[in-house]
Amino acid sequence: MLRAIVDFVLMMIVFAMLRTIISAVSRAVGGAAAGPMNRPAPAPRRGDFPTGGELKRDPVCGTFVPVSGSLHKNVNGITQYFCSQTCLDRFRAA
Ligand SMILES: [Zn+2]
Repeated sequence: MLRAIVDFVLMMIVFAMLRTIISAVSRAVGGAAAGPMNRPAPAPRRGDFPTGGELKRDPVCGTFVPVSGSLHKNVNGITQYFCSQTCLDRFRAA
């Protein structure tokens, strides 16, 4: 009986965490869509990049890119990270 209660509580905690994560992700995607470029950003997909590293947002298209191994450029002391050379060129041109 106690085991059933523990399972139930654990399930509720997992659901609460999932809801928090889902709402955070949908907020992030909504914010990216309303970005300065005003065009839909490709949603970051699981498996596109190696996991475990710190992720930075590409200021051009809104894609999250890993700090290690990504294109980057120092702008006024702030390092900006880019998913591709195309985005870096667009950022330079802006
Ligand atoms: Zn990009």
